[in-house]
Amino acid sequence: MRQSTLLLPTLKENPADADVISHRLMLRAGLIRQLASGLYTWLPLGLRVLRKIETIIREEMNISGAQEVLMPVVQPAELWQESGRWQKMGDEMLRMQDRHERDFCLGPTHEEVITDIFRREIHSYKQLPINFYQIQTKFRDERRPRFGVMRAREFMMKDAYSFHLDQASFDATYQEMYDCYSRILTRMQLTFRPVQADTGNIGGDNSHEFHVLASSGEDTIAYAAGGTYAANLEKATALAPSSAPAPAEDLERIDTPNEKTIDAISKRLNLPANRCVKTLVVKGNEGPVAIILRGDHELNEIKAAKLPNIVAPLTFADEKEIVASMGAHPGSLGPVNCKIDYLVDRDAAALADFVCGANEDAVHFTGANWHRDCALEDKQIVDARNVVEGDTAPDGKGTIEFLRGIEVGHIFQLDKAYSEPLEASVLDKEGTSQIPIMGCYGMGVTRLVAAVIEQNHDEDGILWPQPLTPYDLHIVALNPQKSTAVREAAEKLYADAIAAGLEVLLDDRDERPGVKFADADLIGIPQRLVVGDRGLKNDVVEYKLRHEASATEVSLVNVIDEVTAKLK
Ligand code: ATP
Ligand code: MG
Repeated sequence: MRQSTLLLPTLKENPADADVISHRLMLRAGLIRQLASGLYTWLPLGLRVLRKIETIIREEMNISGAQEVLMPVVQPAELWQESGRWQKMGDEMLRMQDRHERDFCLGPTHEEVITDIFRREIHSYKQLPINFYQIQTKFRDERRPRFGVMRAREFMMKDAYSFHLDQASFDATYQEMYDCYSRILTRMQLTFRPVQADTGNIGGDNSHEFHVLASSGEDTIAYAAGGTYAANLEKATALAPSSAPAPAEDLERIDTPNEKTIDAISKRLNLPANRCVKTLVVKGNEGPVAIILRGDHELNEIKAAKLPNIVAPLTFADEKEIVASMGAHPGSLGPVNCKIDYLVDRDAAALADFVCGANEDAVHFTGANWHRDCALEDKQIVDARNVVEGDTAPDGKGTIEFLRGIEVGHIFQLDKAYSEPLEASVLDKEGTSQIPIMGCYGMGVTRLVAAVIEQNHDEDGILWPQPLTPYDLHIVALNPQKSTAVREAAEKLYADAIAAGLEVLLDDRDERPGVKFADADLIGIPQRLVVGDRGLKNDVVEYKLRHEASATEVSLVNVIDEVTAKLK
């Protein structure tokens, strides 16, 4: 490709509204342009990278035995009503009507459509297991589209759906997908981690997210240094503490007119926050429920929403409800004399002689103890907090540390969440009708482009890993408009490189060398040849690798061989 004719609109300055490196560089290197919030056009250079990612994903999915299909973006409401999700999906799903006033949506995901295909076309156990995938556009009206294609509204996903008669068959495909995702991300030369993940409302333990490690990642990953445990913070748990020691202090009432926070109360009493408890009030199915945590711990809203009788998604009670049910304002709440049901995080339940609000404004207790001063049954003890760095991993092996990650893939078990309501079934060996269990495997194709850049850049621009680079070789002709020798040599190298099977970008523009070098660094093609009059006098060109600081001189006759050798 000749750069003089390519739409490659590079920008010198950082665009004002781009907060993360990948978004800035994707705009500056002319890979994408925004059409409207969360909607992007892929320009030629960006599209080449996207296609390479697609190809790697497609190749590895095919190796895994999955079959490619392509389902419609526009989906009829009836299917979503059958699964019950027409109501449940909320504002993320963009709905519309056709000319006959029939309801449709833009597919945010495709469980319903694939299950419909399955129930129409698959009838026998002999056809199972089966795994379908597609690489296709999704639309989700995200509350906060941001970071460019990282969290867009229209984006490309590889989604796959498998069907099985029994758990053993599911487990085998799940492992196959786990391995497949690991191969895909390894081929992209990404540093990544599979972690245990929350399954939403489906439940079960078969759920892993694949995270590309990057400081800009939206997710926190808790992993065990010196162990193997790794989980999304949403899901992560720590080793359960041992039970509370015996009480040593008496319960004592103190006036706390100015102490409404854990910080203030622990300062006033000169006690660490981990000797206090904090009491949060959330909505339950039968009225408000208090959740009690150690003062230095934070509530994990995802875990809390799954506790028995708690309303999901987790909703905090407002001040009026709190005063009406507890008899005091937030800042003076606690388990002693608590008039509503309460749940106690394991670490709060392991405290003795703790400080808590007295459910009376401006009053606290010190020396509070479970059982003696407030009831604590086993069924009230729950895991409701975020793990913190320094916790012991739940298997007892290693200490929890945090990393930031970009979720690029998620694999999980769906069980019969769609096959049952949509009445998909097959006949088993005995001729009995069976509802298949399903698995679901998503990968963010467009998000991966951003994730790759987050891990592969320097202050001058992108450094494409070889498997994803838009071109293998960048030939930069210096002042071709002034020098026939340069023009001819560059054209010859260009033709030779193409003949050698390389994907080549030739900078034949009438631009200053400084502009050309800056653009070359910005777009980040791994190998660069600079053709200039000075070198040509000695039959050499300058050869530079994007990730190396200095260039070498290579003879014109050998240089394409050298470039090709690098690719092997
Ligand atoms: P998130 O928690 O980031 O919203 P999700 O749980 O909604 O993700 P899935 O429904 O599992 O995501 O989708 C599969 C993959 O699609 C994700 O792992 C992610 O890589 C990608 N993805 C999801 N939402 C977006 C988006 N708004 N923009 C770009 N990629 C996305
Ligand atoms: Mg989402």
